[in-house]
Amino acid sequence: MVKKPGHDGADAALYGNRFLTEEAPSTTFPDTGMSPTDTMRLVDEDLALEGDPMRNLATFVTTWMEPQAQRIIAENLHRNFIDHAEYPISAEIERRCVRMLADLFHAPGVTTGCRTQGSSEAIMLGALSLKWKWKERRQAAGLSVDRPNLVFGGDVHVVWEKFCRYFDVEPRIIPLAPDKYTIGPDDVAPFLDENTIGAVAVLGTTFTGHMDDVVGINRLLLDVKRERGLDIPIHVDAASGGFVWPFLYPDSEWDFRLEQVRSINVSGHKYGLVYPGIGWLVFRDETDLAQDLVFYENYLGKTDATFTLNFSTGAAMVLAQYYNFVRLGREGYTYVMRQMKDNAKVLADNLRATGRFEVIGEDAEQLPLVAFRLLDHDSYDESDIAWQLSAERGWMLPAYTLPPNAQDVKILRALVKETMGRGMVDRLTQDIDDACTTLDLKGGAHPAERQQVKSGTGY
Ligand SMILES: *Cc1c(COP(=O)(O)O)cnc(C)c1O
Repeated sequence: MVKKPGHDGADAALYGNRFLTEEAPSTTFPDTGMSPTDTMRLVDEDLALEGDPMRNLATFVTTWMEPQAQRIIAENLHRNFIDHAEYPISAEIERRCVRMLADLFHAPGVTTGCRTQGSSEAIMLGALSLKWKWKERRQAAGLSVDRPNLVFGGDVHVVWEKFCRYFDVEPRIIPLAPDKYTIGPDDVAPFLDENTIGAVAVLGTTFTGHMDDVVGINRLLLDVKRERGLDIPIHVDAASGGFVWPFLYPDSEWDFRLEQVRSINVSGHKYGLVYPGIGWLVFRDETDLAQDLVFYENYLGKTDATFTLNFSTGAAMVLAQYYNFVRLGREGYTYVMRQMKDNAKVLADNLRATGRFEVIGEDAEQLPLVAFRLLDHDSYDESDIAWQLSAERGWMLPAYTLPPNAQDVKILRALVKETMGRGMVDRLTQDIDDACTTLDLKGGAHPAERQQVKSGTGY
């Protein structure tokens, strides 16, 4: 006789999982455990409601790696990177990556650098080194060290303001303008003085993917050095651009070819094509790393020098970065970057052809992305499009306003990554156009409903 199905533990163990009928633990530490299969299903089912990374056009971060790279990652998740004494090969592979990056960025000689959790950690460390080197210079001259400042544009990532607040440095932020989204020497000059620990230039801004005028800023700082005796270093935030410019624009100078550029950060998990989190900090010269920031300890069995904010962390992404460097080489990275850039060009052309949009700064050197905005803002704006596109197709396409004083400019930005093939570019264009058509109809006929869409409560 067939027993009536019930919800007792035996049935659940045999046919299902208990979270088909129970709520997931979420407020208190669970009294008892559960089977591995139930646990896996619980986590999987929760995540099913999350956005699909393949349709995430907002993030610069890698969402796809080759199966062979995935295997290396999976097989090395148990390796703690900081155990240099126990895992000297992982440490050596980090050194290889740093040397390769120093070569890619045209360091003039032997130098140093390190892996980090991402560009944010690399920037904290790089900027701390700027602060300590400034202190050394000031103290050697018997001058005060209580009012350090750092000069950067409004086009920087939030991490730069974070650094200033966390580490007590005055931020001197150069405002943008309604038609100018990067900075150059004339913008920087008025902000410099003897307490300036450094000037920051961005290679590939988060907002529109363009570069600050690093060549011009370098020229300015050489003049300042000659005329005023102030040796102000540049740190280039190449979080996104550091793996794009060397391959798409190899003749464009932004790196250690420029004398005042003393340190560079880059995110391995952006165009370095590795999963999060891996970043890199590279100095122009060993002497650009303030020695006071290096700590020596021997509790892992061997005296070791560390320059990090974190201690324990996985080695897998370092190994994955090395995999990409040797798997792709300059030729492979160039191929991947060109393919993304070509597809970004097609998307830009398609969007212009709809007659609805203007594309921002596509003739300048730029990351493989399309920044665009509506030509007319009659009945809806860029945020409405982002919302509609997400509702209709699940695309995550961010709409945002630019930093001051360009805060009245709202744009949409689509990253065109390795996984977005030509067919998908055409599909996306069609979906954006369809979303606009829906909004055209709504905007004309149902102003009340439009209000709903705008506040994000529609549908
Ligand atoms: C992404 C980004 C950062 C932060 O980098 P993480 O690797 O996410 O920590 C800093 N600066 C710029 C320009 C960025 O694009």
